[in-house]
Amino acid sequence: MSLSRRALLVGAAALAAAPARSAPAASPAAARARRAPGPDVLVLGAGLAGLEAALRLEAAGARVLVLEARERVGGRVWSLPELPGDQEAGGTGIVRGYRRTMARAQALGLGLVDTAGLSDFGSPDMLIHWRGETIRPEAWPAHPANPLPPPLRARLPFTLGLADLAPLNPLGRAADWRAPGMAAHDVAVADILSARGWDAESLRMGFGVNPGYVEAHSWSALMAFQVLKAAEEIRRDGYAGGVLVEGGNQALPRAMAAALRTPVRLGAEVAGIRLEPAGVRVRLASGEELCAPHAICTLPLAALRLVPIDPAPPPALQAAIASVPYNRVLKVFLEPRRRFWESDGLATGMWTDTLAGRLIGMRARAGDADLATWLAFITGPAADRLDRMAPEARGPAVVAAVEAMRPAARGAIRATHVVSWGQDAFSGGAYACWAPGQITAYAGLFAQPLGRLHFAGEHVALETRGIEGALESGEAAAAALAQPGMAADRRRRG
Ligand SMILES: Cc1cc2nc3c(=O)[nH]c(=O)nc-3n(C[C@H](O)[C@H](O)[C@H](O)COP(=O)(O)OP(=O)(O)OC[C@H]3O[C@@H](n4cnc5c(N)ncnc54)[C@H](O)[C@@H]3O)c2cc1C
Repeated sequence: MSLSRRALLVGAAALAAAPARSAPAASPAAARARRAPGPDVLVLGAGLAGLEAALRLEAAGARVLVLEARERVGGRVWSLPELPGDQEAGGTGIVRGYRRTMARAQALGLGLVDTAGLSDFGSPDMLIHWRGETIRPEAWPAHPANPLPPPLRARLPFTLGLADLAPLNPLGRAADWRAPGMAAHDVAVADILSARGWDAESLRMGFGVNPGYVEAHSWSALMAFQVLKAAEEIRRDGYAGGVLVEGGNQALPRAMAAALRTPVRLGAEVAGIRLEPAGVRVRLASGEELCAPHAICTLPLAALRLVPIDPAPPPALQAAIASVPYNRVLKVFLEPRRRFWESDGLATGMWTDTLAGRLIGMRARAGDADLATWLAFITGPAADRLDRMAPEARGPAVVAAVEAMRPAARGAIRATHVVSWGQDAFSGGAYACWAPGQITAYAGLFAQPLGRLHFAGEHVALETRGIEGALESGEAAAAALAQPGMAADRRRRG
């Protein structure tokens, strides 16, 4: 990358004419700090996207300051080291095909742990708990409670859904999803599957009870096709095996932050963004103002919608920021006090239509007899119901739901951690789930800067998603600042 440091400095010089308003400086140290040259680039958010952009810009010689609202880095990657096996409250599944993630972890000397045998997720033994009955998977196809029509009733509920769209995928490459010719596919998943004979109950079971994204009527099939194609591209080279970062996935953003020359400013909540001819001025919740010739905003849209941008962005961008849905996810970590699964002889993996969502036994090491935690992974309507409760009521409500369907677990489990991503003001959900029509109308807008404000974050990535998408977008934003055309523009305006 050939970022022109000179171009950034030209912008910085111009901005010096518009000094930042800081809290009054009382001490000589504060006065010295005020005289120190300001950053060339402000990066808003210390998740993977922001940290990747910052590392790349620093490597190119820019002065970068990362502003993070929380008292930790990592954003939606958050590990819980107090639980055995460093359980993940946020982004979990890293696959070896995540090229950028692997390279970054390797460059920082981080170890990777194979995930085989660590979780029940996706296990074919998963029990089905449906309308008050616990049903073994082998009994499901002929079970009287199975509401699915003949072509689908032999399928286990947790295998319905995304995979059924795979044979219809119009995308040659994952990166094609934002191409103008794809607009015809930017329709609801429900529309596509209904036309292929899916009834309301099948759609509910496949996409509505424990959705991996959002419900079939609210989700663009074009995004589903991109998710499938991106996964296919990652598997194509045989690199699909799952890994976790040693010490927890959050070790990755921590190591990235530690590698920066300028430490991330934690507890720095961005409360307003002002676009000025010579740069971007950021107001923190504390009232302090910071400015730089350029900024990269990595806030999830559901968090950015709480931050006014002045002057207001064009209407389409405003509408996108205000309306792109994020999926609701709660993770409730249950501590098993005894091996109740040995008393009833049932699997610890359960797909349920209760407040407990999906239950997944997690082990610290493959082959462990004990569970490190029994994870209730709750999405969709069950997450909505829990989110409407008082925070302290959520854990007990999940425990009660589990005890009601699994008598052997009565008195044997305790909720140790409850994490609601939908209720987290700095995330607003787990990931962007574009609604029908929104990809055509909005998705490309974030690839363009708004004046001197660039966008990054998983919602901006073109080829990949999730953790890898965050890194892809950070890389792209840093590269865009380096474009010779932009540098020339900056020189002209500077
Ligand atoms: C429960 C869950 C499960 C997931 N599972 C997977 C998975 O299996 N595989 C996968 O690849 N991905 C998964 N993901 C998604 C993945 O974690 C995210 O896509 C990725 O971490 C997003 O990184 P980011 O940098 O784009 O955003 P973030 O990590 O959200 O970073 C944005 C940062 O901005 C900060 N911020 C927000 N508002 C402000 C403000 N006003 N001022 C200052 N800072 C602010 C936030 O605190 C945050 O640190 C999962 C996510 C969740 C929540």
